[in-house]
Amino acid sequence: MIRLTGISKHYVAAGRAVPALEDVDLEIRAGEILGIIGSSGAGKSTLVRLINLLERPSGGEIFIGEERTTALTGRDLRNLRRRIGMVFQHFNLLNARTVAANVAFPLQLAGERDRKVIAARVAQLLERVGLADQADKYPRQLSGGQKQRVGIARALACSPRILLCDEATSALDPQTTRSVLDLLQELNRELGLTIVLITHEMDVIRQSCDRVAVIDGGRIVEEGPVSRVFLHPSHPATLRLVREAEHGGGGADTGQAHGRAGPLFRLTFLGETAHRPVLGRIAAETGIDYAILAGRVGHIRQTPYAQLTVALVGGNVAAAIGRLTTAGIEVERLGGQVPAGEALHAVA
Ligand code: ADP
Repeated sequence: MIRLTGISKHYVAAGRAVPALEDVDLEIRAGEILGIIGSSGAGKSTLVRLINLLERPSGGEIFIGEERTTALTGRDLRNLRRRIGMVFQHFNLLNARTVAANVAFPLQLAGERDRKVIAARVAQLLERVGLADQADKYPRQLSGGQKQRVGIARALACSPRILLCDEATSALDPQTTRSVLDLLQELNRELGLTIVLITHEMDVIRQSCDRVAVIDGGRIVEEGPVSRVFLHPSHPATLRLVREAEHGGGGADTGQAHGRAGPLFRLTFLGETAHRPVLGRIAAETGIDYAILAGRVGHIRQTPYAQLTVALVGGNVAAAIGRLTTAGIEVERLGGQVPAGEALHAVA
């Protein structure tokens, strides 16, 4: 639905070109929640601001549906921006206006004059984001999570098909982050809204996105379904972000353990298999023993996962691997060492 081809962006600062994006190709599918993750300065904000042409690319083209938006100017460009809502890290609310007046603002900018129409739409939007009883408050009277709900209601005022979220939860505590991400997922499901979510936190991606693109040094270095990128990161930048999400992943000190134990495997349980007691049963049936050297468990959106690094000892290892695979568990043979940073963690 949204397609970026060969996008580059250079800023000019103090007479010098500052490269922000290089040769970015990206496709965002209608109705999905796509996460774009990268560390500070990677180019995330630039990328998201190009989608609604708050910034112009230095090279390349952007299409929304069949429309080449990089060709638009004037009124057409304003109309395009109206079809794309945006939510910001620091909410960007008008402090002198009430909650209701903040949400009404884009409708007024779009030329709506009928007060009854505006009032009805604002009431509907505030109801949708759970703030029906806060309409007459001012932003300073609200919590961070409530302010962001106002920001979301305002972004939806003109019924956009696309919502861009630039670090929308980065100023919020984990519990509030979760409730705002839940709201975004509801809006995605109920309105068929396409959501592009920029973040530097892998946990945000894990909790809310269908697919993820990893950006590093202005380039997309890895892209795919969240379950694949999160459980099998291949680029060093992705690995770093996954480890950060797991609180630094101090690294299981398994030097001695794996020195004595057998070959190492990484077992990935995704979905229902994460809840089945298969490992012990297969170990007993095939006469192997196992040492768990590292692991992580949690959810990717609503899907449970568990990933264990184990040393298999004695017995019929080949038979055990065969049975594990048949039971729907992904088995990877690792080299001699537990990869640095893998540790025992429980992620909610
Ligand atoms: P992120 O959102 O991932 O932190 P940004 O897109 O904000 O990254 O920035 C990418 C690069 O572009 C950085 O090197 C940043 O310093 C530079 N940059 C961003 N905005 C501007 C600007 N308006 N003028 C000059 N350089 C900029």
